[in-house]
Amino acid sequence: LLATLAAGSMLALAACSGGGGGGGEGGGDGGLIGVAMPTKSSERWIQDGDSVKEQLEEQGFKVDLQYAEDDIPTQVSQVENMITKGAEALIIAAIDGTTLSEVLQTAADSDIPVIAYDRLIRDSENVDYYASFDNYKVGVQQATSLLAGLGLTDLEGAEVDGAPAGPFNLELFAGSPDDNNATFFWNGAIDTLQPYIDEGTLVVKSGQTDFEQAAILRWDGEVAQSRMEDILTSTYSDGSKVNAVLSPYDGLSRGIISALTDAGYTVGDEWPIISGQDAELNSVQAINAGEQYSTIFKDTRELATVAVDMATALLNGEEPEVNNTEDYDNGVKVVPSYLLESQIVVKDNITEVLVDSGYWTEEEING
Ligand code: BGC
Repeated sequence: LLATLAAGSMLALAACSGGGGGGGEGGGDGGLIGVAMPTKSSERWIQDGDSVKEQLEEQGFKVDLQYAEDDIPTQVSQVENMITKGAEALIIAAIDGTTLSEVLQTAADSDIPVIAYDRLIRDSENVDYYASFDNYKVGVQQATSLLAGLGLTDLEGAEVDGAPAGPFNLELFAGSPDDNNATFFWNGAIDTLQPYIDEGTLVVKSGQTDFEQAAILRWDGEVAQSRMEDILTSTYSDGSKVNAVLSPYDGLSRGIISALTDAGYTVGDEWPIISGQDAELNSVQAINAGEQYSTIFKDTRELATVAVDMATALLNGEEPEVNNTEDYDNGVKVVPSYLLESQIVVKDNITEVLVDSGYWTEEEING
């Protein structure tokens, strides 16, 4: 159903944009575009890959879509292969944002434009454009949802009258340190939480407040689960409770929830407020069940459209549309970017945000 809906909205989008494809009547010239995705182990990247492929094919292109199962050498050789096969453009969601320099030089030598997809590719001048979300704002939204869940603010971050004084125990998780997005999410979240930490309303009881301490390599849910277990043992065996957990990704949230359940926490009885990201189906169900408080919805269909529009514009010799030319410095240059907006999802707006947009159906969510 999702595929059908995505295809439907794509037709509408193609019609609106005048169908400006990669040359020729009604779309592309049949050239090949390489699409490199990090892993199939998380739902969102499967949706990203499907949407990008479908939308490129809609424009008349052939697509080489590859997943690297989070293995860096695999991703490098997949991209090398795309170049060998004659790809005219590359759309890449990097596993490690710093390891593609050499293969991107090969692409540049053959005048193949490169679009960084969702994650900025670092340390290379051969990244032409960046399609993503406002990643700092995603972090702000994650933190704001925690504040709202604790009753300190509303979901827009406005202070509420009669807010509880706390103190609330908070623990912090961050994403993979080799993913450029992880520090953006972290900075947005910490900037939002810091005033509450400074005034003592929030207390990071474990004392683990550095990004390095909080980061989870490759966004691995099992690693998050064991870090949460360690924190519960080291810091909360005195009977005190964790009241909130900043988690930057639904897969980590699920690991954190398992650790809490194993430690005897039960939903409805001093269960902590937990954030997330990606609106993965299991996690939307967990929000419905009261296990997870929030997630951040980033519409992968819209992101695919941005990347596909960038690729077709470049292949037509046009300039892709961007809306940010300041924030994404990859260490060599500021990469011109188009950033989409994300949305906070909590139990109350699941239908409005996720079902009405056709992202998930009521049946899928209710099992
Ligand atoms: C993406 C997130 C995702 C995470 C783990 C990040 O780069 O922006 O949407 O949750 O990777 O896959």
